[in-house]
Amino acid sequence: MPLTGIEIFKLLPKTNCQACGVPTCLAFAMALAAGKAELAKCPHVSEEAKSKLSEASAPPILPVTIGTGDKALKLGGETVMFRHEKRFENPPGIAILISDKMSDAEVDARLKKVKDLTYERVGLTLTANLVALKAESGDAAKFAALVGRVKAGSDANMILISDKVDVLAAGARAGADKKPLLHAATKDNADAVAALAKETGCAVAAKAGNLDELASLTGKLAAAGLKNIVIDSGARTVRQAFEDQVVIRSAALNKKFRALGYPTIVFPAEMTNNPMKEAMISAMFVAKYAGIIVLSDFRGESLFPLLVERLNIYTDPQRPLATKQGIYEINNPNENSPLMVTSNFSLTYFIVSGEIENSKVPSFLYVKDTEGLSVMTSWAAGKFSADIIAPAILKSGITDKIKHRKLIIPGYIAAESGGLEEEMKGWEIMVGPRDASHLTPYLKAWKA
Ligand code: SF4
Repeated sequence: MPLTGIEIFKLLPKTNCQACGVPTCLAFAMALAAGKAELAKCPHVSEEAKSKLSEASAPPILPVTIGTGDKALKLGGETVMFRHEKRFENPPGIAILISDKMSDAEVDARLKKVKDLTYERVGLTLTANLVALKAESGDAAKFAALVGRVKAGSDANMILISDKVDVLAAGARAGADKKPLLHAATKDNADAVAALAKETGCAVAAKAGNLDELASLTGKLAAAGLKNIVIDSGARTVRQAFEDQVVIRSAALNKKFRALGYPTIVFPAEMTNNPMKEAMISAMFVAKYAGIIVLSDFRGESLFPLLVERLNIYTDPQRPLATKQGIYEINNPNENSPLMVTSNFSLTYFIVSGEIENSKVPSFLYVKDTEGLSVMTSWAAGKFSADIIAPAILKSGITDKIKHRKLIIPGYIAAESGGLEEEMKGWEIMVGPRDASHLTPYLKAWKA
């Protein structure tokens, strides 16, 4: 049972030093009990208290790792029902299904899709680096061979799926060094699969026919000493699976029900034969609240929107994506190339730099740190005004790179042009277009 706020308070130093950012130890204890603070924020807590508090301070959805090294997939660790309350922590893994009944050519083609369907967006790489290997043949040697083939041909993290313990064991032993997720322990095989998970050090998925059975199954696995647990409610209809996701998250967060406090796995691949419906179902699970989503196949036209949705939902709403302040050289500029200024909201930077790149006009773009706010928002907040832009540009070193003294500002901050001319003596301030899509004709007509 998790500790209450008062029980936690008794274990804290009670000095009210405020180093945790909260006025009193009692307030910190209450926040910890509600899952809204992290124990690490208190630098004065004793080691003995730390170990006693570890359960209370663990997130209501326990963190789980699949795989090893830099590419390991981290799941769970969630503390809120709704993103705006704080943030969602670990984006769901998106997996492609590969069967041991598929030909080698089909397996290789699917692994190639995992590798190739990778996208750059706002400076981040979007990819679905997870494969779900399903033992449909019932042949242990065949399944182990598939695991070996995938291991050799891909760096993707793996889920091994079989309802036969001997087949699952053959796959797990073949891929143990990659620390795959073993799917699944059930009420009939829990002891054997728990032993296999302990032997190989792999995470294990618990699968049951309903949530009551699932809770008693995770209790059994946890009692066997397993910590890396993922849960599969067994639902394969959209409605039931959706309800289960919401009930599981709510039980773990609002009722502090530890037995369901694990990341989940869902199978849109088994809910429809229609690829577009499958993509829509998956989109729903990205938002509500899957830890892993298994697709029947990857198609660029449906995978890309899913990856973008995942990026948007798992971006911290309190910390906008930002680009580093500085001078960006686009299309190999020279001393006669135009100079523009914009804010460091990543989306703004990538749209503006993309339009400049497409114009093929060699240019300098100066990106001002506006704390990740867009041009309009930062200007309205007083973070993108003449007295802030001018000194930043003058100190940036751009005057060594260009002969002219002309600065193009976004059309939205035209009102700052007078102030900039005051602050930047000898410079001509030019008001550029409001919309980045109009940059190409503007730059083509520009003269030093
Ligand atoms: S940092 Fe620790 S000791 Fe200081 S107020 Fe917070 S909980 Fe109390």
